[in-house]
Amino acid sequence: MIPFNVPPYCGREDAYVLEAIHSHKICGDGAFTKKCHAWLEQHTGAERALLTTSGSHALDMAALLCRLEPGDEVILPSYTFSSTANAFVLTGAVPVFVDVRPDTMNIDEKCIEPAITSRTRAICVVHYAGVACEMDEIMAIARRHGLLVVEDAAQGVMSSYKGRALGTIGDYGCYSFHESKNYSMGEGGALLMRRADPRAEVIREKGTNRARFLRGQVDKYTWEDLGSSYLPSELNAAYLYGQLEMADEINAARLHSWDLYRQGLAPLHDAGRIDWQTVPEGCQHNAHMFYIKARDLAERTALIAYLKAHGVGSVFHYVPLHSAAAGLRFGRFHGEDRYTTRESERLLRLPMYYGLADADVEKAVDTVAAFYREARA
Ligand SMILES: *Cc1c(COP(=O)(O)O)cnc(C)c1O
Repeated sequence: MIPFNVPPYCGREDAYVLEAIHSHKICGDGAFTKKCHAWLEQHTGAERALLTTSGSHALDMAALLCRLEPGDEVILPSYTFSSTANAFVLTGAVPVFVDVRPDTMNIDEKCIEPAITSRTRAICVVHYAGVACEMDEIMAIARRHGLLVVEDAAQGVMSSYKGRALGTIGDYGCYSFHESKNYSMGEGGALLMRRADPRAEVIREKGTNRARFLRGQVDKYTWEDLGSSYLPSELNAAYLYGQLEMADEINAARLHSWDLYRQGLAPLHDAGRIDWQTVPEGCQHNAHMFYIKARDLAERTALIAYLKAHGVGSVFHYVPLHSAAAGLRFGRFHGEDRYTTRESERLLRLPMYYGLADADVEKAVDTVAAFYREARA
């Protein structure tokens, strides 16, 4: 069976984790966390990057930094992971879902302005599959209406938009280093800030000014603000650093697999049997996923079963949030659901991970092609 995902592993992680263990400094913000922060700041251009315990927690921190009041509204796509909306709901804000574009499955920038009300405070975009949203237009809307912009760039590490790293274009950017993402620490993430907000390190340290105390800037530390324990252990940071050091190699290998899929599936695409993602001009993606779209839900269900029967793992995802139980309870959809539900039912992700063999990509491609040959027969 070709698995759908294998967590990234480069070989240096073991030594770094051992080094962290023997440094007798295994709580957060030790040497490896600092190395990861430096790497992230250098490679993204963010003024400040902070490792977190998950991508979800990076989103929670971003929502707290937005200083939202109960009843404030945040505009976001419905086609995303629960954490994107949950972060804002935890602050008492109301998620206002809008439709996605069918070509990228990203928020449709044209749907944002009509959804703005006097209570709107922020826009949260999701760079689906590591392909950037139309950030120039989105930032212009935010400026016109005085809104904050949070980027859920959980899938977008090493991706860029017109030369700028995803997560550094809006006010706050959130990365995930979950084992299903391109770079991993098991569970973990990072908050990126284009302009460093001093509240972030307070929120991350249980609402205290401990970070300033450790730098010798105050002589005792106290409770100052809202917060929680959002800093990961050094063991996780050490594991991640082993991968960040290899980021170019991991990224190149994934892009290679992505290109192979693209070449292999081009005949089916050109014959109109499947759709696939568009990577717009100016967007450099990171091959976070390779997905195709079947004709409809019935065809996708049959294709997943066929792939499984022939030893190829594939998955679908995202029941649109506005139709999920919590989405109905906490949020609302603005405008028309032209694409979110229909396109989410067609989408199918093929195996994609660091170390995926060319022969396995070919087998996955051949199996998809065989399915469509048999379907026509
Ligand atoms: C993975 C993911 C998250 C959550 O990240 P975790 O590290 O698993 O908490 C949030 N949003 C999107 C779009 C994701 O893909």
